[in-house]
Amino acid sequence: MLDDLTLVGLRPSLVRFCLKMIGDSALAEDIAQETLLEAWVHQHELRDQARLASWMFGIARNRCLMWLRQQKHHATSISQLTQGEAETALMSQMDLEQDLEAKEIAELLEHALDTLSPAMRELLIHRYYDEMSPGTIAIQAKISVAAASMRLQRAKAALYQILHENQKLDGYIMLSGKKGWQDTHLWCPHCGQHHLSVRSTVTELHFICFGCVPASLASTIHTTIPKALFGTAKGYKRLLSHLSDWLAGAWNGMREGLRYCPYCHSSVVWCSQPFSIPGQELQPGFSADCEQCRFSSYLSWEGIILAQAEVQRFWLRFPRMQIVLEQEREIAGQRAVVVTVRSIPTQARVECCLGLEQGKILEIIAR
Ligand SMILES: [Zn+2]
Ligand SMILES: [Zn+2]
Repeated sequence: MLDDLTLVGLRPSLVRFCLKMIGDSALAEDIAQETLLEAWVHQHELRDQARLASWMFGIARNRCLMWLRQQKHHATSISQLTQGEAETALMSQMDLEQDLEAKEIAELLEHALDTLSPAMRELLIHRYYDEMSPGTIAIQAKISVAAASMRLQRAKAALYQILHENQKLDGYIMLSGKKGWQDTHLWCPHCGQHHLSVRSTVTELHFICFGCVPASLASTIHTTIPKALFGTAKGYKRLLSHLSDWLAGAWNGMREGLRYCPYCHSSVVWCSQPFSIPGQELQPGFSADCEQCRFSSYLSWEGIILAQAEVQRFWLRFPRMQIVLEQEREIAGQRAVVVTVRSIPTQARVECCLGLEQGKILEIIAR
């Protein structure tokens, strides 16, 4: 017989877990509550009391997945809506302006403007080429600011539709309904020779470089990030910045001793040990296994380098860069490795000295 206190004690971490999975706090509370109830009703199915927590997280996980699947079904039913409804749905679903940089929007506009109506074209040119505020546009067109904003939204939605139909958004925005790997226009930060590909599952995003990883191993070797960490972003650039935030967070947590699982936020222990990936040599780096939800986190040496603020600024300035690991050696009595991050089109580079025992950065020099 389970006692109430044990169950209720798990509630806060269940809520956090559900929140991470579905990103809605009220709903997370509900699902956690349903999980407690289901556990109570089905407690006879739990044979080993020691596995209570992982059993309960399993229930919560299934409930979250079920909800996410229903949402997905809801999203695909958009095509059955009327034109007006579809437009509104599109507008709320994505905000081009937020997901893409002005430069990218300009590039995409170039291709698509010709197909838009003259009025919409003019509006978008005012907004994005002349960088007029909606207020200025309103004064010029002798309409209210609200009306100007509304027209802008419509023009953006129309533009999105055109870009979507012509597949011009491929590489910039994650397109829903597309299965498998999608090519992006982002350079792989490790080799700087190939573009990254992204794949979306119900709860996770996977990043891969097919230059660094042979296609036959793609299903086992990729960077996996819980989708909940990305919020609603659909632009690849934004996804990548979330990824670097996540890396920085994981590394900071490691450094400050606040070690937590990115899925359920239980505390975990990061160990400096090579981690094995099927079909590959042992990967040097750090790993942490979560005892609550069984998620294994890995932070490779390159991952730690990419987590550094200096390197992230460099990455932003030089989107096409390469990470070169040198031989392990001893620096100031510590096992260490020198990692060079260099821009491919220019001579710019940053040298990082990484202490291998604690994953500490011993020195960073920009050259
Ligand atoms: Zn690569
Ligand atoms: Zn966990």
